[in-house]
Amino acid sequence: MTTAEIDLGALDHNYHQLRQLTYPTVKFLAVVKADAYGHGAIPVSKRLEELGADFLGVATVQEGIELRNGGIKKPILVLSGVYQEEVEAALDYHLTPMLYRWDIAEVLAAAASARGIKVPIHIKVDTGMGRIGVLFEEVPAFVNHVRKLENLEIEGIASHFSTADEKSASYAEEQLRRFLQVIEEMKKLGIHPPFYHIANSAAVVNLPAAQFTVVRPGIMLYGSYPSTSLRDKVSLRQVMCWKSRIADLKKVPTGYPISYGRTFVTQRPSLIAAIPVGYADGYNRLLSNRGEVLVKGKRTPVVGRVCMDWTMVDVTNISGVEVGEEVVLMGGQLGDEITPEEIGEWIGTNSYEILCSVGKRVQRIYKG
Ligand SMILES: *Cc1c(COP(=O)(O)O)cnc(C)c1O
Repeated sequence: MTTAEIDLGALDHNYHQLRQLTYPTVKFLAVVKADAYGHGAIPVSKRLEELGADFLGVATVQEGIELRNGGIKKPILVLSGVYQEEVEAALDYHLTPMLYRWDIAEVLAAAASARGIKVPIHIKVDTGMGRIGVLFEEVPAFVNHVRKLENLEIEGIASHFSTADEKSASYAEEQLRRFLQVIEEMKKLGIHPPFYHIANSAAVVNLPAAQFTVVRPGIMLYGSYPSTSLRDKVSLRQVMCWKSRIADLKKVPTGYPISYGRTFVTQRPSLIAAIPVGYADGYNRLLSNRGEVLVKGKRTPVVGRVCMDWTMVDVTNISGVEVGEEVVLMGGQLGDEITPEEIGEWIGTNSYEILCSVGKRVQRIYKG
């Protein structure tokens, strides 16, 4: 009953929009981590491969293996890098790791040497994100170490922005300066990797100077904006439409409590619909008495607590509602649209978390 329709035509549209914003020679690394932000890693990656994405980006080795088993042939970059115990699997499946630790570099080089191969790696640099990566000032020393490992090939140097989505570009520009400084140092060392990359979705739009030779967008491929200011700059289409149907519908009197804890009590004779979606499907419990859904193109409120498998909405004001009626939890219906950004705002998070928490139990249906 509760499904997520994935509109691959919208994915095509968003890909082309992003492509138009990138310089023609720039390569496109499509980020498909976290099951393609909840959209289904294999069908989405296959489509992106057909569209001409040059690389796919996953977070973990496990995600990379899933793509290979699904038939993906393009280079796959493991953005979080590999752990010691994953090195053999990464080589078996031709996954390209991000590298930022010397201990891993050694293990990787030894494994490659044992196979008599050379493994491409991308060095991850922390230019101010404050997460993973070699601190920008320490990159020359790190690279000097790595270049001595004959079985590793430095194919790329990468970093990540922490604020590319913000209105003020000053900190992102500082990160960019540091990245440029790293590039200069590489030249001085006589190291010329073909791929330099730092641009996430927001940077593709806001900081054209950050494109270098590869861009790495994720969220915008799925039709969501990393910040509202980007809405004017590019027109995207929501790829996922999360919908359900009214499973039960009943008239209740004034003063009737709805759901666990009686946190909502009707103030009038009401028509209450039960929707078979709950927090086990990723419909966040914080949406209790806060969320809205679309019924017949009209917004209508979630009433009472979201349960594990059920959510109730008040459809008193909508005429002609019947059991089986379509309910849109996220996505468009008859001219109105609920975005993951909006749901995120209701409960104090971002669209990324909303998208990637749509549960396993929700069947993905592919269109287009
Ligand atoms: C998730 C991620 C991206 C994509 O970011 P978006 O904001 O979704 O475009 C790019 N690079 C790295 C390293 C990431 O982890």
